[in-house]
Amino acid sequence: MQTTFTAEQLADPDVEESEKILRKCVHCGFCTATCPTYVTLGNELDSPRGRIYLIKDMLENGRPADEQVVTHIDRCLSCLACMTTCPSGVNYMHLVDHARSHIEKTYKRPFADRTIRSLLAFVLPYPARFRAALLLARLGRPFAKLMDGVPAMKPLSAMLRLAPGSVPARSRNSSPGTHKAAGARKRRVALLTGCAQAVLDPGINDATIALLTRLGVEVVVPKGEGCCGALVHHMGREEQALVSARQNVDAWTREMENGGLDAIVITASGCGTTIKDYGFMLRLDTGYADKAARVSGLAKDVTEFLATLELPTPKVKPGLTIAYHSACSMQHGQKITREPKELLQKAGFTVKEPREGHLCCGSAGTYNIMQPEISTRLLERKVKNLEATGAALVATGNIGCITQIASTAKLPVVHTIELLDWAYGGKKPARV
Ligand code: SF4
Ligand code: SF4
Repeated sequence: MQTTFTAEQLADPDVEESEKILRKCVHCGFCTATCPTYVTLGNELDSPRGRIYLIKDMLENGRPADEQVVTHIDRCLSCLACMTTCPSGVNYMHLVDHARSHIEKTYKRPFADRTIRSLLAFVLPYPARFRAALLLARLGRPFAKLMDGVPAMKPLSAMLRLAPGSVPARSRNSSPGTHKAAGARKRRVALLTGCAQAVLDPGINDATIALLTRLGVEVVVPKGEGCCGALVHHMGREEQALVSARQNVDAWTREMENGGLDAIVITASGCGTTIKDYGFMLRLDTGYADKAARVSGLAKDVTEFLATLELPTPKVKPGLTIAYHSACSMQHGQKITREPKELLQKAGFTVKEPREGHLCCGSAGTYNIMQPEISTRLLERKVKNLEATGAALVATGNIGCITQIASTAKLPVVHTIELLDWAYGGKKPARV
């Protein structure tokens, strides 16, 4: 695609980066076929190509974001299916991240939208606040239906509906500490215990620590690590995201320099995609660029890491058929497609893949709160495809997808690692 940015505009490194991305797009439109919002809404402006044109026009003309751009960029799930499909290697992720940050700096959203976004950014990345909010949500749930009638309140009602009926007890594994390997130590890893996941389903971290330590891996939960920053990053709150990124880079660098790390293990693929991008996000920060690139290089999804270990013969043969839901951040963001399925098969599960596996379930960070209508349409489509496999349960590797799919599906939804832990001698997942 031809661009006409001026030399002055290109002096801004973010514009320079976006210009390189824009020039790679050849307008072929292959990406439209796999874009969940185009497939659902059928509007070119809700396709990757349409959004690329909108972003180009806004950036090239040095314009502040307007309502049209904001509407169509807000509807983008950042699922990155378009990046998997694109034959020209267009890095849509970095382009839309730039557009979101530009929107945040130049567009004044309506009051209700601003308020709900600020609330989400204040609550979700902090486990104690999130836990308190979930407890409060139980009281507010009976009012969800009333809120549906007021458009500005729809995100609040979506939030109340998504809140689980009960909040699990906090796990001690979420606190900083070292979990020794059973027997001789073969590897040493840091585990990101996460923000929302540690509150919604602490059993995921428990299963990860139990399995890895049994396999001879020492697991450290470093002091000072926190939310990866993905939630606010996708809202365009760049500075807040970079604060989280720097904090984690510091925490993991200390561990690298003290005990040494073979990997930084992540159990939520949404977080993994962002951490693997820290090197890019902090490339302009001379104090952090190298450290961040090192962190990104060490970041591994838990299944990616497990695939590098020699696994024993499974202890339990549950003989279950599983529908594997590949989170967008897993398959499109990190391009991890083989490992989770192969690990489940090796552990004795029969793995089925649903139709339209490339399409998002509609969770996408805070998307199911901010865009509840589109999100619900995608969720219903996803659940129908998952249930059509005839499997006994659903396995996936991202807490956002687990919460979203479990809100509607009749099948139990568990994290892949909980099944692997069970097969290799750990506890049977509570939901199975
Ligand atoms: S990230 Fe997903 S929703 Fe957004 S344009 Fe690409 S395919 Fe469409
Ligand atoms: S598939 Fe790639 S090159 Fe083709 S229109 Fe989409 S982003 Fe552009």
